[in-house]
Amino acid sequence: MSFFKANKTFKPKKNLPEGTKQYQLKKYAEATLGSGNLKAAVLLPEGEDLNEWLAVNTVDFFNQINMLYGTITDFCTAQDCVVMSAGPKYEYHWCDGVQFKKPVKVSAPEYVDYLMTWVQSQLDDEAIFPSKIGVPFPKTFQSIVKTIFKRLFRVYAHIYHAHFPRIVALGEEAHLNTSFKHFIFFVQEFQLIDKKELAPLDELIQTLTMEKPAQH
Ligand code: ZN
Repeated sequence: MSFFKANKTFKPKKNLPEGTKQYQLKKYAEATLGSGNLKAAVLLPEGEDLNEWLAVNTVDFFNQINMLYGTITDFCTAQDCVVMSAGPKYEYHWCDGVQFKKPVKVSAPEYVDYLMTWVQSQLDDEAIFPSKIGVPFPKTFQSIVKTIFKRLFRVYAHIYHAHFPRIVALGEEAHLNTSFKHFIFFVQEFQLIDKKELAPLDELIQTLTMEKPAQH
């Protein structure tokens, strides 16, 4: 069964036990986001551990993208989206280095399914994303987080390039823009994605992150 069929009713990933650091950070992140200042909301809270902060936010973005893509799954079909793309210039072939050692050309829904299933398997792996108190993060943690962010970006890129009119018709564009803006501020703050990987949404990134001129 595909990832999205199995998750038709959205359930937040990973229920962190109360009292853990990540649980506290999740509550903190929700509170700061409520203030509406996304740029401030991405900053590592003073005195907190970077890996814990990356972990909490990785899970959060995964859940957001899961929900956003979930609204258009009926329209992102193997017939309409024969390949995973972000506009005419960018095409992605799935390769996870494990199940698929060489890049394989699959439809966008298949690609997103592989991608989200792969991310979920990373989040569920206690050796990578420990949820218990006192269990350390692996040395490779930050490089895994970067790969997760690089791949999650492609789902935003596909939604914007292939399905934006549908998102508008569903009245979801403010939600999508806020989520993506938050994602980009986070990526920029912790340098999680190479600039060339962001190219398919360059202009949008410029527009969304532009400082508003000061009021006189
Ligand atoms: Zn599509």
